[in-house]
Amino acid sequence: MKVAKFGGTSLASAAQIRKVCDIIRADAERRLVVVSAPGKRFKEDIKVTDLLIAYGEKYLADGQAEEIKQKIFQRYTEIAEELQLSREVTETLTADLQEILTAKNTADAARFIDAVKAAGEDTCAKLVAHYLRSLGEEAEYVNPLDAGLFVTDEAGNAQVLPESYERLRALRDRKGIVIFPGFFGYTKEGILVTFSRGGSDITGSILAAAVKADLYENFTDVDSVYAVNPNLVKHPKEIRVITYREMRELSYAGFTVFHEEALLPAYRAGIPVCVKNTNNPSAPGTMIVSEREASENRVSGIASDTGFCSIYVSKYLLHREIGFGRRLLQILEEEGLSYEHTPSGIDNISVILRKKDFTEAIRSRVVERIRRELQVDDVFIEDDLALVMIVGEGMRHSVGTSAKATAALAKAKVNLEMINQGSSEVSMMFGVKEVDADRAVIALYNEFFADQQQSRQAI
Ligand code: ASP
Repeated sequence: MKVAKFGGTSLASAAQIRKVCDIIRADAERRLVVVSAPGKRFKEDIKVTDLLIAYGEKYLADGQAEEIKQKIFQRYTEIAEELQLSREVTETLTADLQEILTAKNTADAARFIDAVKAAGEDTCAKLVAHYLRSLGEEAEYVNPLDAGLFVTDEAGNAQVLPESYERLRALRDRKGIVIFPGFFGYTKEGILVTFSRGGSDITGSILAAAVKADLYENFTDVDSVYAVNPNLVKHPKEIRVITYREMRELSYAGFTVFHEEALLPAYRAGIPVCVKNTNNPSAPGTMIVSEREASENRVSGIASDTGFCSIYVSKYLLHREIGFGRRLLQILEEEGLSYEHTPSGIDNISVILRKKDFTEAIRSRVVERIRRELQVDDVFIEDDLALVMIVGEGMRHSVGTSAKATAALAKAKVNLEMINQGSSEVSMMFGVKEVDADRAVIALYNEFFADQQQSRQAI
């Protein structure tokens, strides 16, 4: 049995939904299908989820959101009409949607927004199930509450509850094709909560783990995961096989093909994941697995992400002061901040944070507290930091990767603010100024992949 998840661009129009249904019908093992909400049809288009969020916020603010609501209805009715679904079907779909969008109980804004957001996936799943039935397939829409997908009560950031797996296993025994809306679950009290943005990948992974699928297929709009951002390098190398750990590191540093949180359920259950293209389903895609053949490629990919900053702290004899690190991190904990990395020297330590969490209001307080409570010699914040990562299981077994990398970065005149290599040796991380990030990525890609680019040979 395979679980197939289709992303927003795969469901953006009637033509795309036809492709999706062709793919589902081409393989009898594709019996559990997870869908996103209709995404962008063209570059300037707006995803249904974004329309829904805009609608929800406007509705809460002044109740005047009719115009946006009509746009949302139009997206679905256009698709339904083009797929030649009956008038009754279209009316039922829009009536359900209408009920969610005009809910009376809006006292809890975050819950209301979650319910509105999730309507994108929910309506889409119902629509796809209707269309498959109109083609003569046995297909049913299944609601996450009925199936038992239970999550924590954290609006917009739900986490699956462990007991869900046992309950969801029963989906295996359903006859025909199950169409399941991605992106949300329910609390034990029956309140709808969504995952973080892009969370339909997470739903797919949870279902694949629960039914112990042979494969979790993640259909998107690219032929494979690439070794570097294709907006930076033309025709980058396609990755054929990558490990969960490598994929996890690359997602962390900006690879958006697959949601960062989505790997965990599949990884724990040992379910291989295949990233494939709805617009080119015969392309082999990228397999994400637990082990890959040791090949000559020590590096799988180069990634970078911006939006970081670091708190630099120095104090003479810091390395001898018992509890210094704990007290430093405790200040961050008390200020509600999570940290990313803590590279350190003998008398200094830096704490890398996401800039978006580290607002102006908290900054001066944190600096002041560190200065006062830890009696440090110096403390300052460095902004506009990007993290550039080289990722590859093969680095563990080869020498000289960092020498090669730093030489390439020096040649590209990229100043290194920080170097960090985790003990797993799956990745090596360089902190650089944001303005240098793209240049750094291109330099590293050329260093590690340029010779393979000619042949476009896959990993
Ligand atoms: N539709 C949701 C979003 O845009 C979830 C998803 O597509 O996976 O974030």
